[in-house]
Amino acid sequence: MNGDRGIDVREAPPAFPREEHRMKIQVSRVPEEGRRERATYDPAALDMDRDDIHLAEPFEVDAFVTKIDEELVVAADIRCPLRLSCARCLEEFASAVQANAIFNYQVRPADVVDITDDIRQEIILGYPAIPICRPDCRGLCRVCGQNLNIAACSHQGE
Ligand SMILES: [Zn+2]
Ligand SMILES: [Zn+2]
Repeated sequence: MNGDRGIDVREAPPAFPREEHRMKIQVSRVPEEGRRERATYDPAALDMDRDDIHLAEPFEVDAFVTKIDEELVVAADIRCPLRLSCARCLEEFASAVQANAIFNYQVRPADVVDITDDIRQEIILGYPAIPICRPDCRGLCRVCGQNLNIAACSHQGE
């Protein structure tokens, strides 16, 4: 041993800056021609307290923000990668929630608008209730459990 103290996971730096978890829009900084905003959301910071929704990775939100009198309009492009288990064959597969949403807020010039609640809602709406890895997934044999996407078994066609 030569002083190697190993890796302490508690000291590992966060994968991305802690302060940029949420898209907060300062109304006073939105110019007449609009403004592009971008944020990387940490799923842990989204407080998605639901057993049926599992977000594994940070995801990006891209938005175009405009201000019309006292209304702030946010056109958000949400792309949230998912790892799901297929309800038929039980295999893991990659998927995503993709949504283009428009949010409207009544604002005053000094306001800071946090769009996180609306982002959370879009993800809940877009999240697949019954994940299927592909439309023609054959699932598992009810008798022997063979994954029929990979190979047939002797129980088919009986
Ligand atoms: Zn499947
Ligand atoms: Zn079988």
